[in-house]
Amino acid sequence: MIFPPPVPLSKVVIIGVGLIGSSFARALKKWHLCEQIVGCGRSFATLEEGLALGVLDVAETDMRRAVQGADLVFLAMPIGATENVLAAIAPFLDARTIITDVGSVKGSVIEAARRVFGTVPANFIPGHPIAGSEQSGVAAGQADLFCHHKVILTPLPESSTEAVHQVSALWKVMGAEVILMDPLAHDNVLAATSHLPHLLAFSLVDTLAKDDENLDIFRYAAGGFRDFTRIAASDPTMWHDIFQANTPAILRVLDQFTSGLNHLRTAVEMGDSQEMMGIFTRAQVAREHFSNMLSKRAYFKPMKQKQTEFIVQVGGTVSGRLRVPGDKSISHRSIILGSIAEGQTEIEGFLEGEDALATLQAFRDMGVVIEGPHHGRVKIYGVGLHGLKAPPGPLYLGNSGTSMRLLAGLLAAQAFTVTLIGDESLSKRPMGRVAEPLRLMGANISTGDNGKPPLVITGNPAMQGISYAMPMASAQVKSCLLLAGLYANSPTSVIEPAPTRDHTERMLKGFGVQVQQDGARVSIQGGQELHACFIDIPADISSAAFFIVAASIAKNSEIILEHVGINPTRTGVIDILRLMGARIDMENTREVGGEPVADLRVRSAELTGIDIPEHLVPLAIDEFPVIFIAAACATGVTRLTGAEELRVKESDRIQVMADGLNVLGISAQPVADGIVIQGRGGTNSSVFTGGEVHSHGDHRIAMSFSVASLRSADTIRISDCANVATSFPSFVDQAGRMGLRIMTREV
Ligand code: NAP
Repeated sequence: MIFPPPVPLSKVVIIGVGLIGSSFARALKKWHLCEQIVGCGRSFATLEEGLALGVLDVAETDMRRAVQGADLVFLAMPIGATENVLAAIAPFLDARTIITDVGSVKGSVIEAARRVFGTVPANFIPGHPIAGSEQSGVAAGQADLFCHHKVILTPLPESSTEAVHQVSALWKVMGAEVILMDPLAHDNVLAATSHLPHLLAFSLVDTLAKDDENLDIFRYAAGGFRDFTRIAASDPTMWHDIFQANTPAILRVLDQFTSGLNHLRTAVEMGDSQEMMGIFTRAQVAREHFSNMLSKRAYFKPMKQKQTEFIVQVGGTVSGRLRVPGDKSISHRSIILGSIAEGQTEIEGFLEGEDALATLQAFRDMGVVIEGPHHGRVKIYGVGLHGLKAPPGPLYLGNSGTSMRLLAGLLAAQAFTVTLIGDESLSKRPMGRVAEPLRLMGANISTGDNGKPPLVITGNPAMQGISYAMPMASAQVKSCLLLAGLYANSPTSVIEPAPTRDHTERMLKGFGVQVQQDGARVSIQGGQELHACFIDIPADISSAAFFIVAASIAKNSEIILEHVGINPTRTGVIDILRLMGARIDMENTREVGGEPVADLRVRSAELTGIDIPEHLVPLAIDEFPVIFIAAACATGVTRLTGAEELRVKESDRIQVMADGLNVLGISAQPVADGIVIQGRGGTNSSVFTGGEVHSHGDHRIAMSFSVASLRSADTIRISDCANVATSFPSFVDQAGRMGLRIMTREV
């Protein structure tokens, strides 16, 4: 980063040449930031050591003499000494001398300055490096101690801008990140993040050391004890001063902690597993993701932080057996229904992709205790229909349209207000399609511009049922209304213009809810209780689709995809590919928890272009990007119509796929509601030319173009692929095991 360099310094005086003071001196020397460093302190022995170590140029025990003619005075002694030190040096300071300090509490240092000078001098810039250790003394210092650490400066309105710049610039040269903060805010934050943990460590070690069994306790102390109590080795004087200087803030956070501890004590005493697991899982997730919490996001990690490129080598065959991760749609629904059920729901095969994790985190934020996921296993302690609590902040749903639309229905009927937000891509997706029918049921929902997120939902516990003919075939809208209908005081019916996936209806039945199906109409009566159950989530046919197409288009290939969900509302991809000539056999067909599953055997085939029947479109809506790859590898033309929905998915999938196919040498002509693709299959072993395509952050586009490499003449590079983690985090590994050669590169 480029920032203005500090003004060159002739003389810097460091008062208190211990860990922090000597580290600052070392860094000044390392970066050639001043001509002379004068060390000043209580004992000459320390200063002599500083001279011997080459940290200081001059040692001076008389601080009045030391500060005369200084450009910068750096206070690095315990904060309890601040007032006396300032009073001693005040008459001898030049008007131009900048003073800064490193005290761990800022309010008391500023008060001390005010008492000594009357007002805080414009050249006094309070600071605090968030760096250090439990060690102390001049020998412990390091030139790089502040590198990659934060330094908080708490200037006052009357502070000189030049002095703030100069102090900031010095810290920045030393590699620190400088943050400006209000002194009170600093003291409150540090009370929680630094002062309380030190207090606990001191108290724990002292309490145990007094115990008769102390020798055994310390002899057998394990890693956890050592980690937790490391900071109890810190300097007692320094900490005594900190607790005296920041008493009100420390007491406030200590009281909060004591109440939390008492709560946990009760849970342990009562053997309350749910409460204990709730506290531990929330803490575990919070600990893992506290950088996200700092930026006021949910604990769930946003995906846009990284840019990943796939570089896919050409050719190959695919073979082997594979179980792709759990179904994304069913994973979302298992968390939603498990959370509002009575009792404990156990889930196997949960998809640990970012979208489903966003749903999971949203329910944790609403007070539901959820264990896992661990290797696809999740346990939910359901809170019942009316047990959700207001989340502490907006629910961040990442890239997941399913989460936002389904949650909108559920939250419309709760007794609290909630805001739903998402990443950049989700923030552009239409939510009016759920907001409008929910409003007809009595929901209070506001959206951003043009019906886009954020959604602000003020729950209305007295919703009425409606009969709603959906203008588009959308399982998300249907599911949203059925979830809202669970809370309505009269029946809710949804009529779909074409069949859409029915996982919600099937799973509601699994939870003991009566759902009536009458042709295209599905109805639900509100007020029905859900009863916890076991859910074995089938492998996701949408993820399997990449390998179905891979084995179909690659020469001499044969694979078995295990335990794939073959819900008839999802098998459009199989029907379409079979119409094109694909060889897909279903073996070992069975039913698992209300959902049909099978092992799919897929072999290479000569594909032929077709006009895709419109009735299959909603049943294959997520699989079209990879079907387009199959179409490019077929002989003849494939035409898709009636699929305008594809334009409002994670990307405009018609345009983005057409652009990518064109780059790869395929004639693909987008039309308003579909696409026309001229296949280059037949005898051509290389269908695609290779080249660079853009996935526009759309996971399914990225995976589809990876599959194209099997029939490409040259490498395919695909940009913006990080979102593959939303639905298929193990894609690159699993594809590699089957024969695709994908390299990832962080850019
Ligand atoms: P340290 O290693 O113990 O060094 C303190 C130095 O201050 C010693 O050289 C000591 O001299 C001198 N000193 C003590 N009382 C003095 C007095 N009345 N007048 C003049 N000099 C005096 O401590 P440190 O870790 O560097 O901490 C110094 C300051 O940095 C504290 O205000 C602390 O809050 C702040 N801080 C510490 C950390 C950390 O992790 N340690 C992090 C951020 C900020 P003798 O050698 O003669 O005893």
